[in-house]
Amino acid sequence: MQISTQQIDKIVQQVLSNMQAAGTPAPVSAAVHYGSMAPASMPAVSVNTSVSDNGVFEDVDAAIEAAWTAQRSWACEYKVEDRQRVIEAIRTVSRAHAEEWSRKVVEETQMGRYEDKVEKHLAVINKTPGPECLTTEAKTGDAGLMLEEYAPFGVICAITPTTNPTETIINNTISMIAGGNSVVFNVHPRAKRVSAECLQVLHRAIVDAGGPHNLITMTREPTMDNVERMSKNPKVRLMAGTGGMGMVNALLRSGKKCIGAGAGNPPVIVDETANVELAAQKIYEGASFDNNILCFAEKEAFVVDSNYEGFIYNIQKAGAYLLSPQETEKLVQVCLKRKKDGNGYEVNKDWVGKDAALILSQIGASVPASCRLAVCQVTADHPFVQVEQMMPVFPVVKCASFREAMELALQAEHGNRHTSSIFSQDVTHMTQFARLIETTIYVKNSCTKAGVGIGGEGHCTMTIAGPTGEGITCARSFCRKRRCMLAEGGLRII
Ligand code: NAD
Repeated sequence: MQISTQQIDKIVQQVLSNMQAAGTPAPVSAAVHYGSMAPASMPAVSVNTSVSDNGVFEDVDAAIEAAWTAQRSWACEYKVEDRQRVIEAIRTVSRAHAEEWSRKVVEETQMGRYEDKVEKHLAVINKTPGPECLTTEAKTGDAGLMLEEYAPFGVICAITPTTNPTETIINNTISMIAGGNSVVFNVHPRAKRVSAECLQVLHRAIVDAGGPHNLITMTREPTMDNVERMSKNPKVRLMAGTGGMGMVNALLRSGKKCIGAGAGNPPVIVDETANVELAAQKIYEGASFDNNILCFAEKEAFVVDSNYEGFIYNIQKAGAYLLSPQETEKLVQVCLKRKKDGNGYEVNKDWVGKDAALILSQIGASVPASCRLAVCQVTADHPFVQVEQMMPVFPVVKCASFREAMELALQAEHGNRHTSSIFSQDVTHMTQFARLIETTIYVKNSCTKAGVGIGGEGHCTMTIAGPTGEGITCARSFCRKRRCMLAEGGLRII
C-alpha cells in the first residue's frame, strides 16, 4: 500500500502531539524532514533564551539552552543542502571580513603579523571542509543492508585560543555545524571583543541564509566557571578545546567526551643530505609566520654537522639576524622568566608573538623592520629549545649525526606528538624519524604549515587534536557514528 506525504505528515503530527502530551518537548517546529528526525529527549529548562545579541549571551545557561533548541531544529528540520548553503554564506562573509578581523586580532591580542593573519583566515575560510566530508559507509549481503553515517553529537562547547581566535571560530563553526551540531564558544579573554564581533557576523550570515538563530553562541565574558558549568550541563554533549595543555588536561578530567588540541614544540631536522638552501628558506618562512605563535610552527632546528655552516649562512641570506652568544643570553632574560618553583624557565607572555625587530631592540640590537626572525646557536639543553616560546627567536643545535639529531628532537618535542619536520633526500631517514617522533603532523622538505594545507595539500584546521587522536579535525571529527540496518536483503539490486 502506497502512503502519501500528507498521510506521513499526519502521522508525524500525531507522534509530536503524543510526545508533548507525555511531557517530552517536541522539536521546535512540525515541519520535519523525516530522514533525520530524532525526538528531543532532554527536559526543558526555564532560562531566558530571547536575550541573545546575535548569538552573544550574558549567561552561559541561556547560551546552552538556545544552542540546544537551535541544534534540534538544525538536525531535524534542515537538509544537507541547507548545511552547504549556510556554510557557503559563512565563507563569503568571512572572506569580506578577513582583513578587518586580522587587523583587530593584532590590535586586541598584541600578537602576530597582520599579513600572515589574513593568510590564515583565508586558509580556514577556503579549506575547511563542509558536510561533503561526511561519507556514508554501506555494506550489503544476504542478511540485508547496513549503513553507517556521521551523526551530530548535539551541543558542543568549543574553547578557543588567543593565538588564532577568529580563525578558530570560523574553522570550528564550519566543521561543527557541517556535522549537524550547534556550538557554545568560550573564547580567550584576551581576544573576547574581536571574537564576539566575528561570532555575531557569522550568526547573522547563518540566519540570513535561512539557518536557525543561536546555532552558534558564546558568553560575552568568557570564564573558567562557564567552562565548568558547560562540562556539567547534560545538554552539552562534547567538549572541544584548542589551547595549552593545562586547558586540555582540565577538559580530559571533566568526565565528558572531549576533543583536545594542545601544545606543541615542533622540532625540525636538517640532515647531511638536505638541500640546505631550501631548508633555510622554508624554515625562515615557517618559523617567522605570524611571529611563531602557531602551535605547529617550527620551534627549533637540529642540523647535522656537515650541513651546519651552510644552514647558518643560508638562513641569514634568507633574512634572519644571527645573535651572538652574549646577545642570546641577554635575550633569555627578556623572553623567558624563571619558574616560581625555581625549576627551569617559562615563557614571558609579554613577548609572545611580538615582531623580531621589537624583541631585538630590547637588547640593543637594531635590525630592519623587514627582518622576521632572529637565530641563535645553542646546545639542546638551552631553554630556547626546551620552552615553547612562540616568538620569532629560533634556536639551532649542531648535531654530530642524524641519530643524535633524532634523539635530541624527540626530547625537545616533550612527547606532545604534535608536529615535526625533516629536510632530507634520504627516504630511510624520513621514515626513521617519522616512526620515532610519532607526531600528528609530519612534513618533509617544506614549512610545517604545509601540514595544515597552508602551502600544502589537504584540508585546513586550527584545531589539531593530537592528545585525543582526531588529528587534523574536520566535520567528521565532531560527529558520532550511527548504524542503520535494513534486514532481509532490503534494497539490494544484485
Ligand atoms: P591557553 O591554554 O592559555 O588558552 C586557551 C583557551 O583555554 C582559552 O580560551 C583559555 O581561556 C582556556 N583555558 C585555559 N586554562 C583553562 C582551564 N584550566 N580550563 C578551561 N579552560 C581553560 O592557550 P593560548 O595562549 O590561548 O594558546 C597557546 C597555546 O595553545 C600553545 O600552547 C599552543 O601550542 C596551543 N595551541 C594548540 C593548537 C592545536 O590545534 N593543537 C592550536 C592553537 C594553540
